[in-house]
Amino acid sequence: MLSHAYIGLGSNLDDPLDHVTRALRELDRLPLTRLAASSSCYASRPVGPQDQPDFINAVAHVETRLSPLSLLDQLQALEQRHARVRARHWGPRTLDLDLLLYDDRCLHHPRLRLPHPELGKRAFVVVPLHELAPRLALPGLGPVAGLPAWRSAGDLRALLP
Ligand code: ADP
Ligand code: MG
Repeated sequence: MLSHAYIGLGSNLDDPLDHVTRALRELDRLPLTRLAASSSCYASRPVGPQDQPDFINAVAHVETRLSPLSLLDQLQALEQRHARVRARHWGPRTLDLDLLLYDDRCLHHPRLRLPHPELGKRAFVVVPLHELAPRLALPGLGPVAGLPAWRSAGDLRALLP
């Protein structure tokens, strides 16, 4: 069955804009998966430790025939290909790929929670998601424009193309 998934991309090391734009193209080449749309890129201040560079963030909409866990496997393999090293929680990274939504699934698996638990709290996720799907309703969370982080949407800058 064809499913719709939204993926949050983030990078703050080694030319972050290049990591994010390459990763968007690579999502289109994952098995049984096609990139349907991608948001603008945004610049954001880091969450957690502040002694690290700003982030570039974007959200991608993919159509996929992979299961949620197979898609997560593919996203983690893609992170590894970008030489991601998990040094510290919320620390700097070359590429972070979060599975935000998979259809209207709610999941509490040890490796995968859906919707992504931090989704509603992060303007750098909510704003690009709203750009792609302004009328989207999130399972258990309601309309994207009603999420808590939407109130701080003005703090985020979209980069010019
Ligand atoms: P973070 O994105 O919070 O900085 P990581 O990218 O290192 O942290 O992810 C930590 C773990 O989160 C991964 O091992 C993964 O299995 C788990 N995880 C749970 N739910 C999700 C999700 N929706 N998307 C991505 N990873 C998830
Ligand atoms: Mg992650």
